[in-house]
Amino acid sequence: MSRDALAIRTLPADHIYVWELAGDRNLYSAVLHNIAIINRSESRVILQSVIAELVRQNVSIQTRTFSSQELERSAMYMHEAQQQGLLSAYGFVFRPDLLLGDDNKLAPTTTLAPGQALFLGSHAFLIPMKCDGFRITTIAKDDGKRTVQGMTKLRLTEYRSKNTYRFPAHGTWYVSAGANLFSGHRWVVCQEFGLDLIRLGDSGGFYAGSGSTVENHYAYGSEVLAAADGIVVKSVDRFADSSNRLPQENETNQMYWKRLLATTSEWLVGEAARAAGNHILIRHDGEEYSLYGHLQPSSICVEEDEHVRAGQVIGRLGHSGNSPFPHLHFHVCDGEDFMYARVLPIRFSNVAVLQRPALTGYLHTGDIVSSY
Ligand SMILES: [Zn+2]
Repeated sequence: MSRDALAIRTLPADHIYVWELAGDRNLYSAVLHNIAIINRSESRVILQSVIAELVRQNVSIQTRTFSSQELERSAMYMHEAQQQGLLSAYGFVFRPDLLLGDDNKLAPTTTLAPGQALFLGSHAFLIPMKCDGFRITTIAKDDGKRTVQGMTKLRLTEYRSKNTYRFPAHGTWYVSAGANLFSGHRWVVCQEFGLDLIRLGDSGGFYAGSGSTVENHYAYGSEVLAAADGIVVKSVDRFADSSNRLPQENETNQMYWKRLLATTSEWLVGEAARAAGNHILIRHDGEEYSLYGHLQPSSICVEEDEHVRAGQVIGRLGHSGNSPFPHLHFHVCDGEDFMYARVLPIRFSNVAVLQRPALTGYLHTGDIVSSY
């Protein structure tokens, strides 16, 4: 048996941050974002399976086996995506630079010629106890029907933030995207634990009237506050509000989302950071950075290199960038190039969740929160 004829690279590499689903029940989730399997041997190999095991003290406590049929399907889709240039167009999602390098081409099937690779997309795991990490193994047959394999390990880590963060706005807000699995954010490393926040009006809705103008939305124009002390490292104000992305009169919800999704790629392909619209990035202690996206044109009232204090007004909320409706995109990440950094799970020191006891301060999709 030949070991490590197959190289396995993962995104993230080295370690994955778990997200607490229910701390009182010791339930966590983890997303293994991408796996690339590269044939490092001199001969052609046919992949048989990929096995991801959750490991605790070297004992496997949960196993997810990707069958040869699943691998075949993924090979077909991802090869097609690479052919169409989508892997590089959405480089911030798939990171072909890290996973494949310059010369590795994806194979269209599970048969990998020397140097060819297979790419697997995101998979989520429900973790019922504290675990040490993942062990990922792949098994294949070479031309002589001998077994070849590869193996890699990843740690699971519960992230402990270096700073105390305050909620970045006043008032009552709906968490339309949090880090539990019902949001697009969770499936992309550079957005994984990010929040989308929509302000609620006294009526409990997001807007008055039809919502077809930005001014109807309660979030629009709300003050955005620095979440912690720090230094402004990016202050970008060059986008108009995306008013054509609001629901129109007589447009059903289904028609609206169809129209919206059809134009989303325009924001994400190319200079993907444009998706944040007008935005501010603040550097905090311990190489943590907070991002405030979709701000109102000409509302930013801080400059690059300026020191800011927690709770200071830094701008007003708008509807710029890839914004379906006026909302604040907020996250804390580990690097200045925020489309290629890693978003970190953080909690706020000053929020109450109205419909459940916020036992740990982590916010979930669907929470209604109020800052104090
Ligand atoms: Zn967002």
